[in-house]
Amino acid sequence: RFITLEGGEGAGKSTQLRALAAALRARGLEVVETREPGGSEGAEAIRALLLTGGADRWSSRAEALLFAAARADHGEKTIRPALARGAWVLSDRYLDSSRAYQGQGDLTDADIVALHGIGSAGFLPDRTLFLTLPQAEAETRARARDGDISDRIGGRDRTFHRAVADAFARFAVEEPARFRPVDASGAADAVTARLLEALADLLP
Ligand code: C5P
Repeated sequence: RFITLEGGEGAGKSTQLRALAAALRARGLEVVETREPGGSEGAEAIRALLLTGGADRWSSRAEALLFAAARADHGEKTIRPALARGAWVLSDRYLDSSRAYQGQGDLTDADIVALHGIGSAGFLPDRTLFLTLPQAEAETRARARDGDISDRIGGRDRTFHRAVADAFARFAVEEPARFRPVDASGAADAVTARLLEALADLLP
């Protein structure tokens, strides 16, 4: 199965991804943990291009193309081979992050989905777990980690992050079978339990 974790900065995706992977391994499953941008040698090289050089390095269209290119390589080199041998793949971010983040630029949601059609044959997760956290709590957590809510792809403000959160919330309404909101507040163990519950129907 292919599972993705989505959410804004500070929602706890990376911590939860590790915990969820451990829980699935404890059930005897082979689990591949991966992330975007990145997750394959080529995609990690593209990640370095995206996360350095400041906010103005890339036009919003170029940025969206680089994310789509990274995802194409990630899918071909890492995700699909793992799924083909029966492993579960957990990815920290995937297409929905592009729709939420790159969707704030010059391209429409339909454009970004079309790029995904070209780059990755439209390949989608079996389930997407969307970690939800009130913005104030997310900012406190993100500050504790990064020192600042403005993120590593330069200087984005609260309005931007709010628009990203709104986009994710819209996906949950549009695709309820795939895109499941999960409450990310409270103790880490409790959040992991909620994530497992949101996967219950997929577990062997
Ligand atoms: O997942 P993480 O928060 O580490 O993501 C790294 C950075 O890349 C974040 O600052 C996020 O805002 C940004 N990003 C993005 N568009 C994506 C995926 C991530 O702008 N599609």
